[in-house]
Amino acid sequence: MNHFSNNIIKWFELNQRDLPWRHTNIPYLIWISEVMLQQTQAVTVIPYYERFIKALPTVYDLAKVEDDRLYKLWEGLGYYSRAKNLKETALTLVEKYQGTIPNTYEDLIKLKGIGDYTASAILSIAYQKPSVAVDGNVLRVMSRYLGIKEDISLLETKNYIKHHLSGLINQPTRSFTEGLIEIGATICSKTKPNCLICPIKDNCFAYNNNLTGLIPYRSKAKDKKEMIMQTFILKDLKGRTLLKRQTETLLNGLYLYPQVNSENLNYAIDALDSLGIQVLNLNKTKSYKHVFTHLVWHMDVHFGICEVNNDEYVLVEEKDLPLYPMASAHKKIKK
Ligand code: SF4
Repeated sequence: MNHFSNNIIKWFELNQRDLPWRHTNIPYLIWISEVMLQQTQAVTVIPYYERFIKALPTVYDLAKVEDDRLYKLWEGLGYYSRAKNLKETALTLVEKYQGTIPNTYEDLIKLKGIGDYTASAILSIAYQKPSVAVDGNVLRVMSRYLGIKEDISLLETKNYIKHHLSGLINQPTRSFTEGLIEIGATICSKTKPNCLICPIKDNCFAYNNNLTGLIPYRSKAKDKKEMIMQTFILKDLKGRTLLKRQTETLLNGLYLYPQVNSENLNYAIDALDSLGIQVLNLNKTKSYKHVFTHLVWHMDVHFGICEVNNDEYVLVEEKDLPLYPMASAHKKIKK
């Protein structure tokens, strides 16, 4: 290991946060934690991870879990396709790998929901193989350290950083991999890096050239698509709430209140009517906004009474509502 790697490993061993997945090298647990950590901060993940591995402690438990229970365990983490892929992959692991997690990049990358970063992280953290895992934190730290002025969202930039780091590691690397990620998560923040306490500041190009405000460079993201929704919290005459289980990719497996993409309330009521949902009376409550990665929903929410004649919808007693995994966009309305 060279000076750069040694500094990171030494710093990490003294300064790392105490996170539950750092107490294990069981590949199943590392895989679950890495998937949860995609797009979500470590402190947010902790209670979800603990609850999940208590409920589903092995790959066999995950492979046979009911979808509703899985989504309930995932509720609040968002990006539900991650949970769906976890289960699909668990089934593959049971069928093809006797319930073990593969220990080669070639086998890992074939599994659903496991991309370059997750495969490399599992190899490095669970199997102690000299593998370089480059996530958003590592991209930020390394682009600043090396003074890279190319767009960090480009694959070429990521490959360049990966190649550079590969030249630095030749022995078991868990502390190096996690150390680099930890610097990104706790010191080298997007807007205010705390360079004075950074273990690699001496040779950091951005710090030494006063360029931390300009690097990493990223070209402007495309605008998100905006959608206006009429959203209905409807009860039948017995006081049961109307929900629909989603089957499209975005929120597959989760429940939503009936909703119509329109600015016009009358049009939305007619659309529900054509689906066998007759709205008997209605009060508007409030408007809500929910932001997805590429999409924004502006929801006008209405409370009301209805009669239903459509088997694709479910009517749920008040006491049973917590058992139904709701999409976050509607969960906050419920609150
Ligand atoms: S010195 Fe500052 S900019 Fe450079 S890696 Fe450390 S925290 Fe990031």
